[in-house]
Amino acid sequence: MTFTAATDRLAVAREIYATLGLYDPKRAPVDLDLTDNTNLWGMPPAAEATLRALAVSSVTRYPSLYASELKAALAEYMGVTPEMVVTGCGSDDILDSAMRAFGEPGELVAWSDPSFAMIPIFAQMNALRAQGVLERADHQPDVDALLALRAKVLYLCTPNNPTGAVMPREVIEHMLDASPGVVVVDEAYAEFAGTSVVELTHRHDRLLVVRTLSKAFGLAGLRLGYAVGAPALVAEVEKSRGPYKANAVAERVGVVALRDDRAWVAEHVALAVDARERLAAQLRAAGFRPLPSHANFVCVPVAQCVAVGQAMRARGVAVRPFPALPHVGDTLRMSVGPWPLVERMLGAFLEANREVNG
Ligand SMILES: *Cc1c(COP(=O)(O)O)cnc(C)c1O
Repeated sequence: MTFTAATDRLAVAREIYATLGLYDPKRAPVDLDLTDNTNLWGMPPAAEATLRALAVSSVTRYPSLYASELKAALAEYMGVTPEMVVTGCGSDDILDSAMRAFGEPGELVAWSDPSFAMIPIFAQMNALRAQGVLERADHQPDVDALLALRAKVLYLCTPNNPTGAVMPREVIEHMLDASPGVVVVDEAYAEFAGTSVVELTHRHDRLLVVRTLSKAFGLAGLRLGYAVGAPALVAEVEKSRGPYKANAVAERVGVVALRDDRAWVAEHVALAVDARERLAAQLRAAGFRPLPSHANFVCVPVAQCVAVGQAMRARGVAVRPFPALPHVGDTLRMSVGPWPLVERMLGAFLEANREVNG
């Protein structure tokens, strides 16, 4: 488990927080960190120039209440109107706010398991019940079992973290039609897949498509996430989110990235896709069976993944182990980046695997 519960119980603390800990992905500093799927090519150039030129005065005042300029830039990028966009302090903030906006305490959040590790945590933070439904062996959601839960919030992630699988649009539409609650579709990796269900937000008023500038846009440290949905749906998330969540520096830099850096982003998405396919091919050539991925990472079944991960760390390289991934077993998730880095990671992996598994 990546969450450690506090040992002492404070008498005034909420009951449901008793088993809630702080997020600890065990990310000790390492020379080459391929654990978090951020953009290893760096930040886009116009965004960087804007950041370097920012005047001190731009941080002495509050940012805009609900990031109106950023919403306009995001709306333009996504092909929707600004009333259909809500921003947050990372998409984590959007997911948290959405659960709080739509779930009464005790109501159910359901998701296809495995998926983003934060989902049950955000549910617990908001006093909601959380239930994962084991995905099928083909890494697609068990639609009937998910729908049978009648969850107030249904979370789907496509391409999914950690498998890299994409859900067909028909499956998402079917779940929208047949579920009673809000359907949250996390598209953190959509740029790498080249597909999105965002246009369904024009027809489905319970669909919230969640995106981020942390991955393809290379701005994870700025903490800028956003979601697209029908105006009335987005308005509820915005109430729950509260004012001033996109800070002034992030808003300025994010707006410029969305306006002037799209060619850089597209170019580096293409490089990431190339690196992903090249890595998968080399893993297959070495006798491994990586899962087909549509994101900027590759998930590969490896016996004793935790020990192999540690042996890689000893070589200055970190990837993320997923012990006993359903239907797959022990697995390593490897982010891709510039090919020389991926090549170094692959070398460390093959050595570490030989050391551990013989
Ligand atoms: C990385 C990631 C995010 C992005 O989180 P931010 O808070 O926007 O940095 C969201 N969802 C998934 C599935 C992710 O892997």
